[in-house]
Amino acid sequence: MQKIFKSQTRNLVKDWAKIIMRVRRLDRATIASIYLDGVGIEIGALHNPLRVPLSAKVRYVDRHSVSELRKQYPEMQSLKLANVDIIDDGETLKTIEDSTQDFVIANHFLEHCENPINAVINFLRVLRDGGILYLSIPDKQFTFDKKRQVSSFEHLIHDYQKGPTSSRKDHFRDWVINVEQKRNEIEIQTRIDELISNNYSIHYHVWAQNDILNFFVLLNERFNLPLEIQLFYKNGEEVIFIIKKHYQNLYYSSVSNKRVTHAL
Ligand SMILES: [Zn+2]
Repeated sequence: MQKIFKSQTRNLVKDWAKIIMRVRRLDRATIASIYLDGVGIEIGALHNPLRVPLSAKVRYVDRHSVSELRKQYPEMQSLKLANVDIIDDGETLKTIEDSTQDFVIANHFLEHCENPINAVINFLRVLRDGGILYLSIPDKQFTFDKKRQVSSFEHLIHDYQKGPTSSRKDHFRDWVINVEQKRNEIEIQTRIDELISNNYSIHYHVWAQNDILNFFVLLNERFNLPLEIQLFYKNGEEVIFIIKKHYQNLYYSSVSNKRVTHAL
């Protein structure tokens, strides 16, 4: 009898240890279960849509239909892709009304944006006050981008103010040389033209972990955006941000006069 009791106790301790470990190890889905509910969108989910709690209803946004995406990314032929409910440019979200979403999810999307500042402004535009922006962004140190220079905030301001077409060719050149490792100038030019004509979605901008945090801090300082960082979490080779759209940001209200006012 005592032996059975000891064995049951040991199993119970093991079960609790497993539960505690599970809770302590945050991942994308656990964070989603804490922060997401209501109705929202996920941009660019492709083969890896975020697992969300039952209380969250997601519509998937992409710039192409599923069949067009398969042509664009032949490497994903055999993978199951998320259905595309809304065909739209995830950077501008022109088809989505202001203040209509409880959450916006964009995993590994910001680095594909030609104009990341404008993209964040649009994410916030479609969120309701109190809505949640769920972002994960790869740390370049752990990807094929590791040889590339970090995108400076000043460069992103330039893309925002002048429009990203002025730097498009430079980004493709950077990609072809530092990611695809092409060395021959004719080969480089041919490949740049090919990627641009196919409208291939490269990583236009890259960051390491601290630079990503800095990007949002500077965005808060330089633009009067209603964003409040609720969580910044290193998740292996990426960082996850939870950002709340929040107009009554008391912490920043004392310095708001010093910041540029940006109308959303
Ligand atoms: Zn750029």
